[in-house]
Amino acid sequence: MQAKVREMILLCEENNIPLDEAKLNKVLSFAVAAHFGQKRLSGEDYIWHGYEVGKILIHWRLDTDSIIAGILHDSVDDGAASYEDLKEVFGEGIAELVMGVTTLGRIRLRGSRNNEFVENLRKMFLAMSQDLRVVLIKLADRLHNMRTLSSLAPCKQKKIAQETLEIFAPLAERLGMGEVKSELEDLAFPYVYPEKYEEVIKLSRSQYKEASQHIFKMRRTILRALAKEAVAGAKLYARKKHLYSLWRKLERKDIKGDFSQIHDIVAMRILVSSIKDCYVALGVVHSHYKPVPHLGISDFIAQPKPNGYRSIHTKVFGPKNRIVEVQIRTFTMHEEAEYGVAAHWAYSEAKSRGKVTSNELEAGISVGEDKLNWVKQLATWQEEIVDSKEFLAAVKFDALSDHNFVFSPKGDVFDLPVDATPVDFAFCVHTKLGNYIQGAKVDGKVVPLSCKLKSGQVVEIIKAKNPKKPNRDWLRFVKTQTARRIIQKAIREETD
Ligand code: MN
Repeated sequence: MQAKVREMILLCEENNIPLDEAKLNKVLSFAVAAHFGQKRLSGEDYIWHGYEVGKILIHWRLDTDSIIAGILHDSVDDGAASYEDLKEVFGEGIAELVMGVTTLGRIRLRGSRNNEFVENLRKMFLAMSQDLRVVLIKLADRLHNMRTLSSLAPCKQKKIAQETLEIFAPLAERLGMGEVKSELEDLAFPYVYPEKYEEVIKLSRSQYKEASQHIFKMRRTILRALAKEAVAGAKLYARKKHLYSLWRKLERKDIKGDFSQIHDIVAMRILVSSIKDCYVALGVVHSHYKPVPHLGISDFIAQPKPNGYRSIHTKVFGPKNRIVEVQIRTFTMHEEAEYGVAAHWAYSEAKSRGKVTSNELEAGISVGEDKLNWVKQLATWQEEIVDSKEFLAAVKFDALSDHNFVFSPKGDVFDLPVDATPVDFAFCVHTKLGNYIQGAKVDGKVVPLSCKLKSGQVVEIIKAKNPKKPNRDWLRFVKTQTARRIIQKAIREETD
């Protein structure tokens, strides 16, 4: 136990996180008590799962409340702790975070594979978490579960891996966490598409090797040239394309499995200190290696991608005239590209403790003081640098707070307005279902048809044997235009 405490303290020190030994001991002894006698399927004591989730969050440099909540995230649902225990020992903030993760864990993510429902699931996930840190803890939880997936039964492995590809990896991408998204995808790949996985591994081995060698040759030339231009502290390395995204690219219609058309299987990455140095580096690269006509340069610094991604990408003729992609960015942009909103959090934390220089802040980050408004500020910040409605809708909980996500008994998710009723639900599922309403059940209990639905509930319509005319009284409580229109039409037809 002491060795583990030491290890975590060191990790906190490396990442400038103010979590001291006394506090950590308190957290871990609480976790030990809550998970007493529990083991994971891998045979490990249960608390080490929370511990590893905490380590991931330290790595992402989240605030101490999130890290503690991460360590304790299963202490209520899988352990013996309660909200009151948590609140008494660690305060309301941490207790709320743990309950947020617990609530998200109870959402059933099964249902149809229809794009619309999957998108609703992702939205619901954000809407129900209320605090973005809850989503980040949940992502760290999923990441550790995926890293240890081999100890589960095969039927569970595939289901969890599939859910990871459909819900969690896209969520990580929306949040700008490219590294997390890629790791989740690569971990899920062999479980969801085992044959394809083997095939890509086999086909790509020599391609990876050859491309790496080319980059190694270019590295020395460019480093020397950068030094001449007085670009100090630049870092150059080879970035391998992740296997799952390589496969997806190979599957594209315009590529059809042709490796010679994939120029970024291994890309050269150049990290420098300032935006100015990015453009100097671009000049250096082009003066030694000719840019490829027509494939050209993408300047995502001048025009960032919708999720905030910034870098300059260029394709050049490398050694033996092989096309090589070069990606140039600042260290700050790199951190953002890997850890997205989490990196943003790290900056706001560090700044409040005076650890970030004004230069780093000027490199594209404006941070407000009020942590509670963090999500809103993030949204504003995103708005300033890029106009993307989709990203805003994804991170801005306000935009989703007037939605109501309910489930059909099969697990399909429906996006309804606030205060919608089982009647609205029925017409939303299918017009025909609206014509057979006899009664309704919510979470297995019979309720009145005027009952106001809440996010996360399972709604079941009790069907009549024969079609029934909609009831005029329903107009008093329905919330959706669809339901209202159909009911009014039916009444008109009746009186005609
Ligand atoms: Mn967990």
